[in-house]
Amino acid sequence: MIIDLKNLTIKKVHEHFIKGDFTALDLARAYLKNIESKNKDLNAYLEVFDDVEEQAKIADDKIKAGKADILTGIPFAIKDNILIEGRIASSASKILENYHATYDATVIKKLKEAGAIFLGRTNMDEFAMGGSTENSAFGVTKNPYDHTRVAGGSSGGSAVVVAGDMALVALGSDTGGSVRQPASFCGLVGLKPTYGSVSRYGLMAMGSSLDQIGPITKTAEDAEIIFNEVHGKDINDSTTIFENTHPKKDLKNKKLIIGIPKNFINKDGVDKEVFTNFEASIAKIKLLGYEVKEISLSDIDYSLAVYYIIMSAEASTNLSRFDGVKYGLHKDGKNLLEDYLMTRGEGLGKEVRRRILLGTYVLSSGYYDAYYNKANDIRKTIKKTFDNVFREVDVILTPTTPTPAFKIGEKSKDPLQMYLEDVFTVTANLTGMPAISVPSGFTNDKLPIGMQFIASHGRENILFEISKVFEKNGVK
Ligand code: GLN
Repeated sequence: MIIDLKNLTIKKVHEHFIKGDFTALDLARAYLKNIESKNKDLNAYLEVFDDVEEQAKIADDKIKAGKADILTGIPFAIKDNILIEGRIASSASKILENYHATYDATVIKKLKEAGAIFLGRTNMDEFAMGGSTENSAFGVTKNPYDHTRVAGGSSGGSAVVVAGDMALVALGSDTGGSVRQPASFCGLVGLKPTYGSVSRYGLMAMGSSLDQIGPITKTAEDAEIIFNEVHGKDINDSTTIFENTHPKKDLKNKKLIIGIPKNFINKDGVDKEVFTNFEASIAKIKLLGYEVKEISLSDIDYSLAVYYIIMSAEASTNLSRFDGVKYGLHKDGKNLLEDYLMTRGEGLGKEVRRRILLGTYVLSSGYYDAYYNKANDIRKTIKKTFDNVFREVDVILTPTTPTPAFKIGEKSKDPLQMYLEDVFTVTANLTGMPAISVPSGFTNDKLPIGMQFIASHGRENILFEISKVFEKNGVK
């Protein structure tokens, strides 16, 4: 049987395995073959693992024994900042180029227990800082729809392997949009779960109060299956929340109300085609029978500034551990300070150093109150605004990004232009709310566009419900 990788989903694969149409080994080999022919050009995988066939054989034994879980034999790709025991995890940084993880991240442990297969680790912006994968120390990842354009970031590699049929599904991490933005640039679904619903144990920290691991998939159902498998309380991450905070309320008889923050979207800097698609999405949603309500989100204009202060502050402290003593690269200077300066100067890229400087500045005595504390105050106000809005609506709709995938090199010289790409995604991280990007048709140049749904804490079930309807009936 020829395996039609393009149209496979987790459920379909599972059924094929059970029926014996093909084995986990057949499927893994089909992906390996595709990787062989495509990865050189797209640069999405940093490493393809040498034990994929062995993993697949173990999965096949489980399937034959009638013990298959829904994820048994499902080929995953993993972002390079999530630890897999014994494997290199470099966060696409020179400083960790040869660092081998000494334990499994909780998400990996759960996926291993389910029998999932890991094909390899994917390219990303160094330490997840960026929105284009251009900040990787190992070269940019190209967009499969147009090789002169970026795939988005920071989980660019994870998006491209799924869009290019080099893995069925992938994991990324999202601190300010890094799962949703590359998903939208590559025509895929990307979920940023509620803060604390998925364990961060074994995820290299960027902004600890913002980070979440999330799936990048072809369908909302696949994202739901993965989320259900990996979320939950973890004793190794004290910020994780109990499962019962995710009400599995039956939504069948509920008419969802969709909030539209039009004033926030209708701005310079938002691409015309993206705005037209947003309006067409609203029309479609109305047609599908949902109630649409215009909402105003005051203070949301400050989100981006607040994000870049808080994220930099947290990242600068998180990255202080990479000093050449405990992990990775080490350079010998004349004394300890010189060791640090040489190791970090050579091991860390420009954008990472920029954010460490920014973060250290906003946390320094004399500026702490003016920047960090003020940003935290506004963050609380933004959260209150969202809490209030969610008393009136069930979901908020925005485009995922203000533009479709941009040209490689177009924004990399101007960090502020790059940061503006995050304008619609960062609020979900600041407020801790779950958000999903769903494909919403194409531009005239055939570049994918994504729409974002945001729900209140623990209401991933609402996101899955609306996304499934939208992806089937949305703007084509
Ligand atoms: N593009 C955003 C940034 O550069 C988001 C990064 C992320 O989510 N890891 O900060």
